[in-house]
Amino acid sequence: MRHHIFAAAGVLLMCSGWALADVADSSANGFTVKTSITIQAPPDEVYHKVVHNVGEWWNPEHTYSGDSHNLTIEEKPMGCFCEKLPNQGGVRHLELVYFTPGKALVFSGALGPLQSLAATGSMTIQFSPAEGGTRLGVAYTVAGYVAGGMNTWAAPVDSVITEQFMRLKTYVEHGSAALQTKTTSAAPFPVTQGKAYKFEKVAEGVYYATGGVGSNNVVIVNDQDVLLVDDGTTPATARALVEDIKLLTDKPVRTVVNTHFHYDHTFGNQVFGPEVEIIGHEYLRNAMLNFDVLHREPYLTSMGTLATRIAGLQKQIADEKDVSRKASLGKDLTAAESLREQLKEVKVTAPGRTYATKLILHKGSREIQLLFLGRGHTGGDTFVYLPQERIVCTGDMDEGARVAYMGDGVFDEWIASLDELKKLDFQLVLPGHGVPFRDKTVITAFQSYLSDITSQAAALRKQGVSAEDAAKRVDLTSHKKDFPDIQGPGAEPRGVRRIYQWMDERDKR
Ligand SMILES: [Zn+2]
Repeated sequence: MRHHIFAAAGVLLMCSGWALADVADSSANGFTVKTSITIQAPPDEVYHKVVHNVGEWWNPEHTYSGDSHNLTIEEKPMGCFCEKLPNQGGVRHLELVYFTPGKALVFSGALGPLQSLAATGSMTIQFSPAEGGTRLGVAYTVAGYVAGGMNTWAAPVDSVITEQFMRLKTYVEHGSAALQTKTTSAAPFPVTQGKAYKFEKVAEGVYYATGGVGSNNVVIVNDQDVLLVDDGTTPATARALVEDIKLLTDKPVRTVVNTHFHYDHTFGNQVFGPEVEIIGHEYLRNAMLNFDVLHREPYLTSMGTLATRIAGLQKQIADEKDVSRKASLGKDLTAAESLREQLKEVKVTAPGRTYATKLILHKGSREIQLLFLGRGHTGGDTFVYLPQERIVCTGDMDEGARVAYMGDGVFDEWIASLDELKKLDFQLVLPGHGVPFRDKTVITAFQSYLSDITSQAAALRKQGVSAEDAAKRVDLTSHKKDFPDIQGPGAEPRGVRRIYQWMDERDKR
């Protein structure tokens, strides 16, 4: 048996690099997950840290004792990857069956919860020199019996393995796996302040633009031209963005990518002439052409209530005695009135170019990937991924420490699509709202929010509670540490209504 596992591992060792992380195959009898990560350090160093500093990078959440420093790996055949427990207790996590320092490690065994199943596994870790350091390839094959099929374990194991080795990367590169904690945003970037927009330079030629009306945008300056990610709520804000971009470059905007169909990401589209190609997922184009987006959510409640808001502000200003308070309300009123005027100009403009799963643009020396990783925030969201810079723009699929609008959500698939997102090799996330961040655990926190709100709403729906009441009764306050905007029990009613509708649709199937 042992010989058999070793032979299989030998075959794996001969394979060259793997691309990104993946459940490579999966069946009732077992599965293989693979991940590939570039680490900026030589192979010898990475190898050494995997073996001798496991306590520094292994996530304590995946230990029995809650402390990774109780872990050790004995570097010898039959060496134990073990954990000390109190009162002389212990755990064997894996066993080292093959090692060549600086090149490869093969472990045998079932990790974590798999250990209590009738399952075993083989984990191969390869270290190969690559541009910028080491290409780390991890493959973990698990086989055995579990009621319901081993494949039910594939996705969770994949996500844990990917997360662990991303921690290794952070540890090797920055000296601490926990360096980027959940709540801290990415480090401050050099700023160029325009009339309307603030640009943060996050990489050579890549700027995160905030301060307009609607979405945050990304400006990508290529060898010849500029690509924009999203263009805000109104034509005026898009014009202001184009104007401010002249502070960064004199190259012309030639491409706009819409991450999803919502008004705050697409209603600037009409300002661009025929020389500019607007690209979106095929679902997005259909939605913009056929959903009557000016008379449905999220536009309806967010913008359709402007008149009420303006009337309310006028009354407040009239009643206000305090001069400075009156002035600040006056500013709000001017902004609201200006927005009402700007919206009168909107002509819904759909992209002229669409794609289904993946579109790779080569703009001079820059590679820009448009990726559809499954439904989620809407039925057709695009991630804009820069593989060389290791930057991903998430639109509203993930907004970091903000809970995204859920009125068009596809909830189970949303969580799965975010699993796909986490498999990409990136070091910076630029969300459609909120602030940039680096740590994948931020995404995991949103997945856990999504699964929590979905299951709470499902339970209330089962009890016959209406969607409106459920929106008041769901309690997500346990997620406040990750989403500081949560003030108390309850959630946005359009989101909860949508969860109900989505469950109704599922029941019919
Ligand atoms: Zn949106």
